[in-house]
Amino acid sequence: MSDDENLLEVRGLKVHFPIHKGIIFRRKAGFVRAVDGVDFSVKKGEALGLVGESGCGKSTTAMAVAQLQAATAGSIRFAGEDLGSLSPKDLRRARRHFQIVFQDPYSSLDPRMRAFDIIAEPLRIYARLGIVDADEAEIERRTLSLMERCGLSTSFARRYPHEFSGGQRQRIGIARALSLGPKLIIADEPVSALDVSIQSQILNLLKDLRKDFDLTFLFIAHDLAVIEYFCDRIAVMYLGRVVETASAAELNKNPMHPYTRALLSAVPLPDPEKERSRRRILLKGDVPSPSAERKGCPFRERCPEAMERCAFSAPNLRAVAEGHEVSCFLYGEA
Ligand code: SF4
Repeated sequence: MSDDENLLEVRGLKVHFPIHKGIIFRRKAGFVRAVDGVDFSVKKGEALGLVGESGCGKSTTAMAVAQLQAATAGSIRFAGEDLGSLSPKDLRRARRHFQIVFQDPYSSLDPRMRAFDIIAEPLRIYARLGIVDADEAEIERRTLSLMERCGLSTSFARRYPHEFSGGQRQRIGIARALSLGPKLIIADEPVSALDVSIQSQILNLLKDLRKDFDLTFLFIAHDLAVIEYFCDRIAVMYLGRVVETASAAELNKNPMHPYTRALLSAVPLPDPEKERSRRRILLKGDVPSPSAERKGCPFRERCPEAMERCAFSAPNLRAVAEGHEVSCFLYGEA
């Protein structure tokens, strides 16, 4: 695979959850449209950031890409293979190449397992299935080396998760994700549950690992500053859809979608003078319910620039410049 090819390609992804009413006679009463037609791609070696408010569908998208949540519609292609059409056996083989790091480093680790066993477990399972060629000595060698690489002393190997700090637990989660030698890491809010001082250590660790292991990242966060620091390209999500994608530098310099502009205006600036003169865009209202039937642009109730036509039809994501796509009628969609 050349560097220009997409390692991951997501097209028209929808994840809808049915709502049921009634206690005895259960009947369907609509859907929660958690993800409602998401398109993006990630090139080999690239880090794509998915950003948006809580409830916009970022984590559901991550779970669907990791094949931990069934998609209602759309396709997820990884290294050219449609993951939705693979048999369980082929999916197991493919899965070693894409691994997930979860948000909560405590609940994602089995409290009854020692750190060494948590990190070694994927390797042991794949060795038992005959997918990976490694005996117990090799598993031990690789696990201890991964612990060191992720900043964990090997003398901690026999400790349980509750004996570690939050940052150390996230290092265990990262080492476990790396144990099968994946190509893609899906990092679902990997630092948002950590103290600010620890966040930068984990981000720097992920940056180093990205370089050393030639990793590609789908990085999910609600904090634009974190995404800008880590990612090459950013996709902004609102109410289950991608509303703008661009390189991190372009998005920072030239945000186009009114929602992206509001998000960026909330990021604190390090220069106190610029910070004082900055104009914050305050959005009115709350994010609408993802279960409501809707017509028109999903952002129209909160958009400071909404026009009459925005109530009747929804804009598509379209290219407005090289590598910059936006879904908004302000940018000339006929
Ligand atoms: Fe605002 Fe209309 Fe653009 Fe939607 S399409 S973001 S409502 S201007």
